[in-house]
Amino acid sequence: MKRLILMILFATLPVTAQIRTEFDRKMAEPFEPFEIIDNIYYVGTADAAVYLITSEQGHILLDGAFAETAPQIEDNIKKLGFKMEDIKILLNNHAHYDHAGGLALLKKRTGAKLYANRKQAEQLKRGGKQDFAFGDEIAFTPVKPDRRIRDKDEIRLGDVKLVVNYTPGHTKGSTTFKTTAKNGDSFYQVVFLSSLSVLDYDLVSNPNYRDIANDFRATFGFLRSLKVDIFLGSHASFFKMKEKAEALKSAPGINPFVDPEGYRSFILRNEKTFLEKLAKQQAGPAKAKQ
Ligand SMILES: [Zn+2]
Repeated sequence: MKRLILMILFATLPVTAQIRTEFDRKMAEPFEPFEIIDNIYYVGTADAAVYLITSEQGHILLDGAFAETAPQIEDNIKKLGFKMEDIKILLNNHAHYDHAGGLALLKKRTGAKLYANRKQAEQLKRGGKQDFAFGDEIAFTPVKPDRRIRDKDEIRLGDVKLVVNYTPGHTKGSTTFKTTAKNGDSFYQVVFLSSLSVLDYDLVSNPNYRDIANDFRATFGFLRSLKVDIFLGSHASFFKMKEKAEALKSAPGINPFVDPEGYRSFILRNEKTFLEKLAKQQAGPAKAKQ
């Protein structure tokens, strides 16, 4: 009995604090949910993106934002008229606290199955601990994936098809998802990008991630090869979500999220930063961080 009371107490205790800085707090501010196109909805916070992809047979939720914002995400989903229990699949773009922190709670609230690739699954189960760059510093509530996904797999639910693409670098398990959206008679190639930032990672002699530079190179090469009409990403700022949401509201006839040029320049800009940091580190002392 005592144990049961303790367990209940534990279950109701707040999870590990994951909003740590003023920057996080700003990212976690609420944002009014809206339809991006067709069956794709933005249900995330001001900057930690979360997407609801709907079908007649149930829905997919991509990413969990912070642990503390899980109720906010749930409210957003309900505000749009969808039910938590209709969410059948949970996905994650990469296992950092600002995208994976809310997954444990959202999994509980939906009963959905969490799909992840092997490296992502390891990090999700560890709650972000033993991160190759941050160690245990940015831990989040651990969550256990139910199904393994592999590069180029297709996730199908009703008439939704999501293609899985392994795009490591920012984390070892970073994943990009692709789908096609229909609007009237037109079809659009939609991509959900993972983070591409190099931060202050050691790119040349990283004992915890020896292939990091090669992985980034391959990821950028792959992303450059894609034909993309609508690019969405793990952070709203990547694709100017707020400006585009405003524009969509004021002129619903033209969808500002259709932005192939924006995609190209976002990829090239990030690749340039990576190449510059790599060159600098290669030129400097072997273990230079910048
Ligand atoms: Zn990250």
